[in-house]
Amino acid sequence: MDFQLSDEQRLLRDTVREFARAEIAPVAEELDRTKSFPYELVARMGELGLMGIPFEEEYGGGGADTLAYTLCVEELARVDSSVSITLAAHTSLGTMPIHLWGSDEQKSEWLPALCRGERLAAFGLTEPEAGSDAGATRTRARLDGDEWVIDGSKQFITNAGTEISGCVTITAVTGQEEGASTAARLGSASQGGPREISNIIVPNGTPGYEPGEPYRKMGWNASDTRPLQFSECRVPAQNLLGRRGEGFKNFLHILDGGRIGVAAMGVGLAQGALDEAVSYAKERRAFGQPISKFQAIQAKIADISAQIEAARLLTYRAALEKDRGESFTLTAAQAKLITGRLAVRATEEAVQIHGGYGYIEEYPVCRFYRDAKILTIGEGTDEIQQLVIARQLGC
Ligand SMILES: Cc1cc2nc3c(=O)[nH]c(=O)nc-3n(C[C@H](O)[C@H](O)[C@H](O)COP(=O)(O)OP(=O)(O)OC[C@H]3O[C@@H](n4cnc5c(N)ncnc54)[C@H](O)[C@@H]3O)c2cc1C
Repeated sequence: MDFQLSDEQRLLRDTVREFARAEIAPVAEELDRTKSFPYELVARMGELGLMGIPFEEEYGGGGADTLAYTLCVEELARVDSSVSITLAAHTSLGTMPIHLWGSDEQKSEWLPALCRGERLAAFGLTEPEAGSDAGATRTRARLDGDEWVIDGSKQFITNAGTEISGCVTITAVTGQEEGASTAARLGSASQGGPREISNIIVPNGTPGYEPGEPYRKMGWNASDTRPLQFSECRVPAQNLLGRRGEGFKNFLHILDGGRIGVAAMGVGLAQGALDEAVSYAKERRAFGQPISKFQAIQAKIADISAQIEAARLLTYRAALEKDRGESFTLTAAQAKLITGRLAVRATEEAVQIHGGYGYIEEYPVCRFYRDAKILTIGEGTDEIQQLVIARQLGC
């Protein structure tokens, strides 16, 4: 497989790398410490054309491929995971369903502002009783005349409660289906009668839709994560996104693609940790020499560096498969699984190489270590990736 980047992809990667170094790195610690959403950085990313990389140019998107998007997410995570997940959740989770299944009217209404970064999109799948078992959705939407009336709640939703959040696309049970049980058809572990699940766009500010207070998290402190509540929330019938009854299948497809972005975050975060570790090891002296001269330190650096290269290639391969229109479910799950684990290990080793200073917040590796763990949980836990991979292999 040929991983030669095109001139455009290289230019985008270098632009994002420079932007992250010059504009994100200086403020990342403060944003994390004060748990402040990075409004100015999102606006800058909008100006740079980063908030709509894979979407149609006619709606203001970049018209670029998944590999270009992957490179961007990786470079952001190398410096700051909060900014990276804000862009990734906005692009591959929030906006992608509108891009893939939106009507012309829905695309015209939402995509331009989303691609400019003036508005953020969120993806509302997870619920208090429906996490890994996402088909167990309890949120309901019933048609009342020409309106959907939505009742229910969502959990852990990224980008839904900022001052610039524009909409959330949700799954909701919209009725009963004929035929086989939903659990059997959709691969969900949930039991019960056949249910029809659809996607609906809910604009922020709609009466009855309330994003809750942000969670106090272990990491990703500058990103926005909240529970959502829907109580007699009315939206026009035209806010149905895609075909009625295809909402769960569509969101599983979105998760497949989203995993490539999260895998890129793992690669970027591991690379950022390695960068910090190498530079610190060359500066820090013990026993009369830089600690980089000790074989025990070199072995850590060498191992992590080799694993990053392997993980990066697998992640790019998943992106290329998607861009070629091939099945990428297996590769994306494999990449997500190994990159999450790699990020946890690489950030831990980077802290170890920093000694006591690694435990102090002024050093980026301290934040990196806290930011890594979610990569083995969000967008499908490691156990769910293993399940997807095993199924793809025929188990
Ligand atoms: C910071 C953050 C941001 C998020 N952003 C979003 C978002 O924007 N949109 C969204 O919809 N969701 C979002 N999520 C939700 C995230 O995707 C879920 O937390 C995740 O899928 C796991 O679901 P759960 O937390 O309910 O865990 P559970 O499903 O309750 O899992 C608990 C444990 O059981 C294991 N388990 C469950 N089922 C199986 C099985 N069949 N086999 C083996 N083990 C199993 C899991 O692997 C895990 O270890 C976010 C979460 C966080 C923390």
